Amino acid sequence: MHKKTITIALAGNPNSGKTTIFNNITGTRQKVGNWPGVTVEKKEGSVRKYGHDLTIIDLPGTYSLTPFSIEEIVARDFVIEESPDVVIDIIDASNLERSLYLATQLRELDCKVLFALNMADVATSRGTKIDANKLSELLDVPVVFTIGNKNTGIDSLLKAAIKLADSKSKISQKRKVKYSNDIENSISKLQNFIEEHIEQTLPYNMRWMAIKLLENDKIVREHIRQKTGNKSLEIFREVETHRKHLLDRFDDDPEIVMTDERYGFIAGIIKEVVTKSTKRRIDTSRNIDLVLTNRFVGFPIFILFIWIMFQTTFAVGSYPMEWLDSGVNWLSAILELSLPDSLFKDLLLNGIIAGVGSVIIFLPNILILFLFIAIFEDTGYMARAAFLMDKIMHLIGLHGKSFIPMLMGFGCSVPAIMATRTLESNKDRILTILITPFMSCSAKLPIYILLAGTFFSANAGTVIFLIYITGIILSIITGRLFRSTLFKGADAPFVMELPPYRIPMIKSLIIHMWDRSKMFLKKMGGIILVGSVIVWMLTAFPRNINYSMDYNEEINKINASFTEKQKKAAITKLKLAEKAEKAEKSLMGRIGKTIAPVFAPIGIDWRGSVALLTGFVAKEIVVSTFGILYASEEADEPDALKNALLASEMTSLSALSLMMFVLLYLPCVATIATIRRETGSMKWTLFSIVYSTSIAWMAAFCIYQGGKILGLT
Ligand code: GDP
Ligand code: MG
Repeated sequence: MHKKTITIALAGNPNSGKTTIFNNITGTRQKVGNWPGVTVEKKEGSVRKYGHDLTIIDLPGTYSLTPFSIEEIVARDFVIEESPDVVIDIIDASNLERSLYLATQLRELDCKVLFALNMADVATSRGTKIDANKLSELLDVPVVFTIGNKNTGIDSLLKAAIKLADSKSKISQKRKVKYSNDIENSISKLQNFIEEHIEQTLPYNMRWMAIKLLENDKIVREHIRQKTGNKSLEIFREVETHRKHLLDRFDDDPEIVMTDERYGFIAGIIKEVVTKSTKRRIDTSRNIDLVLTNRFVGFPIFILFIWIMFQTTFAVGSYPMEWLDSGVNWLSAILELSLPDSLFKDLLLNGIIAGVGSVIIFLPNILILFLFIAIFEDTGYMARAAFLMDKIMHLIGLHGKSFIPMLMGFGCSVPAIMATRTLESNKDRILTILITPFMSCSAKLPIYILLAGTFFSANAGTVIFLIYITGIILSIITGRLFRSTLFKGADAPFVMELPPYRIPMIKSLIIHMWDRSKMFLKKMGGIILVGSVIVWMLTAFPRNINYSMDYNEEINKINASFTEKQKKAAITKLKLAEKAEKAEKSLMGRIGKTIAPVFAPIGIDWRGSVALLTGFVAKEIVVSTFGILYASEEADEPDALKNALLASEMTSLSALSLMMFVLLYLPCVATIATIRRETGSMKWTLFSIVYSTSIAWMAAFCIYQGGKILGLT
């Protein structure tokens, strides 16, 4: 009987199949969150197998444990500080040499390691044979073959992990990387020195710590400084002596020499355990890449895929969207009829259902968009897209990888900003997060359609297209500007990995898609709900308005006279006037009039100002606010809002200015919350709000005042 839970951490290179194996083991019993303090995704799951409670952790994918990236720091800290009972290193058997680098580093730590030789099918099909017994013997580590996407070998892997966790044996110190004599000498001298000079126990394996100090590992140094105070100076002095000695000896930094020696060690292992069959299989991936990353056709094909993605997202998505929309309308019609008039009914119908309903209907589009993105990712195409865009992105001083989040920004900035998690460098991430909101999101489209359709009817399409282009150009310009001011310095060196193409697994596609949509729904639902209620309150109060005339009495008067037709028109006119006056005298109207002076120089009146303000909750709401404020929504008059806008003080010039402002001004609440979460910094969040709104105001000012000077209206 075992009371204790066994903690198993899955480590491995990106794309080695960790998440696939994690999903196979845990199924749906998983918790997705972030690692404390950083924005790296943490997946944890628990399961009961073979009489043991197992907790499985999917560590971020890393190529080494040298703390260059957040992922590497997170993975290393977890292994060292949380001491999981077993670390399973998921090794891409078709790429053994690269995978073994991490494996040898794990082997230097005090943890029980087990190797899963995953992608065994790919290795076999390439004619690579791996002698698992030999490998196991050479590194003194249990080795199991697995095929993650076919769920093969996972049970043996778990059994081996439990056996290893239960075993009492000490972790063998022998079968590790042996460095050259000079380095080994320095390691053991340093190790002795530390053991003699420090009384307190450090949470590290001493040999490992000595190695890290010789490599000048900043994090280990910092830990030692904190733990030992003044004593650390002595240690660091000793480390310097050794580093200097090694530098003289090898004429190169010790960390470089040690890396080389690890690769030498690995090359030795490979020689021992791998045999390549002579019959060479044609490498399918390479053949596909001849076309998809071709200099001439690669880019057009990429554009075609993107076009198909958006086309499907909007065209196919529009059907379920209509169903949901009619569902929402049906619900509010039923409630309209069945509930007695009350403040609560008003809140429910005009606040909650109108607000939340308008967002819920986008769920199908979001699911489709995410399905496409999951397919691009899981097949390996996303890496090719990044590769193709690399040249263009270098104009902004960013890598091709940053293009992926920007692309997603056309859909919605929230998942787009979350997608920046794939970027290694923190600087690149923040820069990408700052420029992504300029990619005009789908929620702004209804605004453009309404305004361009009303004021530029003949050229509406061109105007909307130009607005999108302006967004892209401004993101490139600001990107360049920030890169040369706020984010100076060399960008992190970066190798574009092109993982082999794979047929995606339906299960993992669905998990990917659902993970993201769920988060989206939760966040949007919460924020939209609160936002809608606030907008509603502002338009619904105060209740006791001092109207300029008694509308009811006027209506009664009309009822007593005129013909039927005249009567109807007159009553409609009065009702609209009443609604308009109510809007003007509501809290919203008062707020609008207060902030209007700020917007006057860019040609936007108080109604426009207030609509922009509500757009802060969600951009879609701008259109509904116009609807409420222009008070012309008449069911039997389809172009009512258009006509009301044309009749108002708004001109094509001010409409253009308004659209420009909408394109650029501060992101919606959900995006701001996401920026806050993903940058982990209030400073950058505020910066994003302030600079986007200032640029929006200035751009709109130039358009409006420039247009006026040119005599446009
Ligand atoms: P991670 O980055 O390590 O989490 O890797 P994933 O679990 O996301 O896997 C990357 C891709 O490899 C997915 O498309 C999997 O379906 C695929 N995959 C995982 N294991 C195997 C395997 O054993 N053989 C093959 N052919 N594909 C696999
Ligand atoms: Mg993964």
